[in-house]
Amino acid sequence: MGRLSSVFSLSKKITAFFLEYDFVAEPIIQARAVEKFYTQPDGNRIEVIAPVDLDVQPGKIITLLGPSGCGKSTLLRILTGLSQPSSGEVLWHGAPITSQNAGVAIVFQSFALFPWLTVLDNVEAPLEARGVPALERHKRALRILDTVGLDGFESAYPKELSGGMKQRVGFARALVVEPEVLFMDEPFSALDVLTAESLRNELLELWLSKKMPTKAIFIVTHNIEEAVLLADRVIVLGRNPARVRADFPIELAQPRDRKSPRFVELVDYIYKIMTQPDLALAAPDAAAVQKPARQKYQMIPHARVGGIAGLLELLQDRGGKEDLYRLAEVLIMDAEDLLPILDASVLLGFATLNEGDVEITADGTRFAEADILNRKILFRQAALTHIVILQQIDSILHAKTDHSISEEFFYDILDEHFSEDEVQRQFETAMNWGRYAEIFDFDRESHRLTLAEPVGEPHPPTTAPVPS
Ligand code: ADP
Repeated sequence: MGRLSSVFSLSKKITAFFLEYDFVAEPIIQARAVEKFYTQPDGNRIEVIAPVDLDVQPGKIITLLGPSGCGKSTLLRILTGLSQPSSGEVLWHGAPITSQNAGVAIVFQSFALFPWLTVLDNVEAPLEARGVPALERHKRALRILDTVGLDGFESAYPKELSGGMKQRVGFARALVVEPEVLFMDEPFSALDVLTAESLRNELLELWLSKKMPTKAIFIVTHNIEEAVLLADRVIVLGRNPARVRADFPIELAQPRDRKSPRFVELVDYIYKIMTQPDLALAAPDAAAVQKPARQKYQMIPHARVGGIAGLLELLQDRGGKEDLYRLAEVLIMDAEDLLPILDASVLLGFATLNEGDVEITADGTRFAEADILNRKILFRQAALTHIVILQQIDSILHAKTDHSISEEFFYDILDEHFSEDEVQRQFETAMNWGRYAEIFDFDRESHRLTLAEPVGEPHPPTTAPVPS
């Protein structure tokens, strides 16, 4: 990939020094008890991030993993100084960080390029914003475009480029400011599998060959394999609110082999952490022990009934039990898609999770083997036994004489506990499950829920009478 820039040589020596003397190096960024909450229009506070302590040390690629919507991007923005925590502080080399911090740059999943500017102008833009003179910024932009393999594309516009090329521009625009810490928010998620793999390798090559003066890389991802491929250190966040569930080093040499036993073991371990939200992996600190846990409203995982049924059928087909890592491979799904389906199956009592294995329960087996009508009945029974919001809807619809209620009522309940986006997602999932189970009908025009006809008890599959 491209040639080495002589301008980087001094920075390279500094980087090498930091890498070599990593064990005595001071953290570049220190987050101390950073917490984030949003205040709803009714004054209710939604805590997105519980107080978190986190250091970014030089010489490391750190990956931040966690389920979708858990607060990864929010935490990234706080660490860069772009967003303020609601409480706690972020220090940059020991002093409070500011939103104008010159030492960070961010690569976004959506590329976030200026469509009206050429590739070269896009890459020069952050230098211009920092007041770098025209000739100097032109030279630096050309050099970095060469480094990321965009030589010859200087005068192209973003719309003329493929996703992979756009993200190269995203890399170039971040690297051109020679950030001390390079932040990346799901940088490979919008790319196809092969392009993502090749860009990941190029990033690693740049980092390992020290072709960039960056001292630390912080990557937000929901892809477990990506985290194990790239990271020197993995941090796993839990959700509602986000807190650090695990923080551990990955000592495998680069380049890493996805099939090596240690690699598979690490992927398996992370699945285990992410599927056991209540498992205490680290000793809780004294403060956490003393604080009584607040009763949380149940959060439904965002899985559709079809996904849950598909998973249960596959499990049943494979003898009722399977390793999560293998299941993800067979289904060609990453954790972001698979985990909500697993969580939903567990919540409904159709499966259990244990040490990274998923096992179908007796109820799950009955569901997987049932015909269409019986599936609805079994799902209804499971939903009304285990899902709080559906129990509430069912109870209110039975209590009201007109057996009907406005959706607003449930938005009001959910509003108390979740952010606006999450309220929408919770409601959509509850509608999907409740309508499938024929607990209620939902009219999208009047925005009202009405009691559905009861579907009865499960019955054995009917067989056609034998002709006499
Ligand atoms: P992730 O990056 O892990 O997918 P985010 O950091 O984007 O998650 O979001 C975390 C949570 O914070 C989500 O539930 C989201 O709805 C909520 N959230 C983000 N921004 C706001 C905001 N401005 N007001 C209210 N809630 C917000």
